[in-house]
Amino acid sequence: MIMRFCYRCGISEEDGGPLIDGLCQVCFVRENPVLKMPDVVETAICGNCGSYVRAGRWVDPQSYDVEDIVREAGEVALSESVRLDERVRKFRIVAPEEIEAADEVPVGEALVSFEFLSRHTDSFPFILSYRVRVKARIHPDQRILHDESRVVEVRVTQTVCPRCQKFLGGYFEAILQVRAEGRKLADDERKRVSRIVERAVDRVMKRDRMGFIQDTIEKEEGLDFYMGSKKAARKVAQSIVNEMGGRISESYELVGMDRQTSREVYRTSVTVRIPEFREGDVISDTGGRVFEVEKVDGSGMQLKSLRDGSSVHMDWKTVRSRELKNVEFEEREAMVTSVQRDEIQLMDMESYETFEMERPPFDVREGEVYRVVKVDGRRYIRSR
Ligand SMILES: [Zn+2]
Ligand SMILES: [Zn+2]
Repeated sequence: MIMRFCYRCGISEEDGGPLIDGLCQVCFVRENPVLKMPDVVETAICGNCGSYVRAGRWVDPQSYDVEDIVREAGEVALSESVRLDERVRKFRIVAPEEIEAADEVPVGEALVSFEFLSRHTDSFPFILSYRVRVKARIHPDQRILHDESRVVEVRVTQTVCPRCQKFLGGYFEAILQVRAEGRKLADDERKRVSRIVERAVDRVMKRDRMGFIQDTIEKEEGLDFYMGSKKAARKVAQSIVNEMGGRISESYELVGMDRQTSREVYRTSVTVRIPEFREGDVISDTGGRVFEVEKVDGSGMQLKSLRDGSSVHMDWKTVRSRELKNVEFEEREAMVTSVQRDEIQLMDMESYETFEMERPPFDVREGEVYRVVKVDGRRYIRSR
């Protein structure tokens, strides 16, 4: 048998082997370092929204706390700047404790950890120090793992992301207009719309960072929301219609020319018209039937017949084809004083006048006070 020795330190293969490329285990690891990353890594976070670049795209941070965001952005930048020897085909970022405990790594793989050491500043640019450690195996004969570590500095500067540049510059792409059919938007509807819009924007912004609201304008007839993205305006419009019913339409207005692409630039208006009818309205159809509106939403209206108290759901198509319309009505409270077979007698609670009306097909009780509406000279019991 031929005795072989490490050409670098002279140890015999028996004591320091097996030899790899003529080197003992210790010298092989020392001569083939795997961690090849810069000593200083740079990143930036948006001073307005806290976003930072991850895999080439601006993303929102997980936290709202500046110190947390700085750490988050710093660690993302660190993980994206890890460079390892080409013989490492795969690596996994693990906690410092996990890498400490690891004593087996498959050939061609590595574990990397970042141990936060210190933060050198209290304001931008933040400078963070990390100990980057790697354990790797790059050769099948390797018995001793690579175990290298290095202190890397992360500089986090402040910037304004492209989205916020647009936002701060007053940019908007679409106007979401909220109106009511045939009337002004009521105060309580304005509040409800604002709540729906707020919730919908929160949801949309998770996917579409341009979905911001630049400005909200209260108009006599309704509300205008100036939005950063057309797609977001459409989604928010749909949320309003889902809850309140109504129709969405779009219009485009030529606002100028894009100098770079020499294409015409249009501004989109997305208009939601919520239904004319509201809960509590009294309406009639072409056949003269009178209903109370019990519920209005995206699917249609729940109507209660004032004649017999039965409830019916009508989708919006049916509502339109029936030509339903609001009717004028008088309403007062009256107490039932007697119930006969075909007739009931009531007393107006304000004037104490008594009157009779046809007995409705639902239960009415003597001594109870009801709201009575009068439509086209005919009286109906609305409810208790
Ligand atoms: Zn050696
Ligand atoms: Zn931003």
